[in-house]
Amino acid sequence: MKITVAPSAGFCFGVKRAINLAIDSASKFDSELNTLGPIIHNPQVVSQLKDKKIFPVDTIDEIKSDKVIIRSHGIKSDVENKILQKNITIIDATCPFVKRSQEYIKKAFQEGYFIIMVGDDKHPEVQSVISFADSARYKVVNRIEELEQIKFNEKIALISQTTQDINFYLSIICEVFKKTSKEIIVFNTICDATKLKQEEAALLSSESDIMIVVGGYNSANTNKLKNICKKIQNNTYHIETEAELEYKWFKNAENIGITAGASTPDWIIEKVVEKIRSFDIL
Ligand code: SF4
Repeated sequence: MKITVAPSAGFCFGVKRAINLAIDSASKFDSELNTLGPIIHNPQVVSQLKDKKIFPVDTIDEIKSDKVIIRSHGIKSDVENKILQKNITIIDATCPFVKRSQEYIKKAFQEGYFIIMVGDDKHPEVQSVISFADSARYKVVNRIEELEQIKFNEKIALISQTTQDINFYLSIICEVFKKTSKEIIVFNTICDATKLKQEEAALLSSESDIMIVVGGYNSANTNKLKNICKKIQNNTYHIETEAELEYKWFKNAENIGITAGASTPDWIIEKVVEKIRSFDIL
């Protein structure tokens, strides 16, 4: 049995930066420090951070000190204003790629474009980015059919969630071009870490008998990786931890591919590899 882990599997630059900033800030602080929402979409990491006195809260009213950490996905502009009104200091761990998307949206909105954001409207990153435009001036789409709800009688700006599947974004762009001859601007907002992970996952899926995708069930980029792998290799399994691996999946498998979402720490990936190796000697 040959086990190959995609070189880019696991923490991306934005997640590493957010966690380091949180740990560093907590070490300088005596009491509990809160993140608004879980700092990353990985329950095992969020649970470990509690040992370092870093606790997630869901609302501004639950913040227990005069400081709060903003997670890598960023926050909505009105929530940011409310925090500042309460004189709470923001420790901003928003990923620079998400910040860049926020700047693009502000610019497109100010310049009068109708904005189409390609992503999941319930995802915190999408909610934070799109909050910089008026709700009457955008539509978030997650399926091509949703474009039918747009009038296409004005100039259009297209932007994607940073973790979007590049091929899906391209298919939406093509469809929009077919629907209007008005001006269109396209922002390339899929982050470099996501592009690399998706390319490696697709290649590894084509070379493997089984693909294991490791990451939080609530992690958008992990779910995208699972979908990309599944299209190429039907024997694709999404797990959060090694405890979910089943021996029967690996019977007759020679080449095992592993990839992991941007919020999955190395120690979880290592445990997955270890458990699969233990199946090999059964
Ligand atoms: S996946 Fe990309 S945008 Fe999201 S935190 Fe990582 S580097 Fe930033």
